[in-house]
Amino acid sequence: MPEYEYDLFVIGAGSGGVRASRVAAAHGAKVAVAEEYRVGGTCVIRGCVPKKLLVYGSHFAEDLEDAENYGWSFEGASFDWGRLRDHVLRDVDRLNGLYEKTLESHKVERIMERATVTGPHSVKLASGREVAAKYILVAVGGWPFVPEFEGSEHCITSNEVFHLDKLPKRLVIAGAGYIALEFAGIFNALGCHVTVVNRSNVILRGYDEALRDRLLQITMSRGIEYKFHCPFQKIERREDGALDVHLEGQDPIVADQVLVATGRKPNTAGLGLETAGIALGEKGEIPVDEYSKTSCDSIYAVGDVTDRVQLTPVAIREGQAFADTVFGDKPTKVDHSCVPSAVFSQPPLAGVGLTEGEARNSYGNIRVYSSDFRPMKNVFANRAERGLYKLICEEPSGRVLGLHMIGPEAPEILQAAAIAVRAGLTKADFDATVALHPSMAEELVLMK
Ligand code: NDP
Repeated sequence: MPEYEYDLFVIGAGSGGVRASRVAAAHGAKVAVAEEYRVGGTCVIRGCVPKKLLVYGSHFAEDLEDAENYGWSFEGASFDWGRLRDHVLRDVDRLNGLYEKTLESHKVERIMERATVTGPHSVKLASGREVAAKYILVAVGGWPFVPEFEGSEHCITSNEVFHLDKLPKRLVIAGAGYIALEFAGIFNALGCHVTVVNRSNVILRGYDEALRDRLLQITMSRGIEYKFHCPFQKIERREDGALDVHLEGQDPIVADQVLVATGRKPNTAGLGLETAGIALGEKGEIPVDEYSKTSCDSIYAVGDVTDRVQLTPVAIREGQAFADTVFGDKPTKVDHSCVPSAVFSQPPLAGVGLTEGEARNSYGNIRVYSSDFRPMKNVFANRAERGLYKLICEEPSGRVLGLHMIGPEAPEILQAAAIAVRAGLTKADFDATVALHPSMAEELVLMK
């Protein structure tokens, strides 16, 4: 009898868990993965993918408006939320199926129930079955965090927003981070009145200040309202279903929906990690070393549950590195520096490396180059909105420490430029590259 039923038992079939499972299996391990909801995790089922499809869907509002100047007319154009929603959810089903097939084709056993840790090598399933595994990987991700206030049960989170029966005429969004700004853009473009309410006066904390200011200015001109320094007091539901949102120091706002987007917390409640001697961090995250190993030698954790960088491609890297380290005889660490990221607001912004503020604090002697331009497509469409690119360089070497962009297609452009930033190229290398004209990306090599 083998000592363990499995070489690896993975809890959570999201981006990190699925990658780790299939790579470990390809390295010859006997692997099972437990999932209590759907294979694919937050990114595929209720995050990045359906969100991006809604961004595409809502962007047609702007495209149709601009189309007139390009000679097109669309009489009687109309929008059907139900059609977009259902089509998006069908695509989620398609991807969910592909993820399941990937596990099958790699001979990873899929167990569709909740699993909890009961010791360094043991896991208990919701059905009562106990399983012994040589290694356990915890990849259970995060969950929306909802602050405590009276009436919070009337709110929705990013889990429910993809399933709305109808578009809210008046939407209040709590928080001013990634999720808040992305959904503010989507629902504003779809014609809803959107009010973003935050506890501080900062949007997208962590992004470059000049870009955040530009986004604030553009989105306000598009009709999104902001209320800052306004913690929620309570929410009351009226008989007609409308919600009265009471904020500190403000008149109440009436809303049809309230979306809470105030961060995500690691999904560790009730997971039983204490049975393996693992102490959780302050936010409930699982502390791990650079190989994603917890304080227990046989238990590892990857992805949002470790609260390192809450991004899908990072979780995938961590899952791959774990499997290569433990089952592929190839110890691999993940480099968490210089990770590119984007906010799919309208317009989107994207960045890699240090912001101007961070670079000043860490390097002191820096030089900032920028290009503040009106994209050709905006000029032609009579749209006043301007793009802004910033290159932060170390002096006197000219090495690029950070690149930050806001404007149409900024994430698409940044991904390629991030290679140059990560490779440690200099402003002179950017300047030596001939511009690709006419494009927005050419501003990258023309910054003054
Ligand atoms: P963020 O961390 O981006 O933003 C949280 C917002 O909520 C901030 O405005 C913050 O205010 C506010 N907030 C935090 N705690 C409280 C509290 N206790 N009471 C009231 N307000 C509070 O979180 P999101 O929920 O938007 O997204 C979660 C994570 O998911 C992101 O950090 C990101 O890593 C990931 N994500 C990535 C996306 C992408 O890559 N495009 C898209 C969506 C999500 P303040 O900052 O002023 O303190």
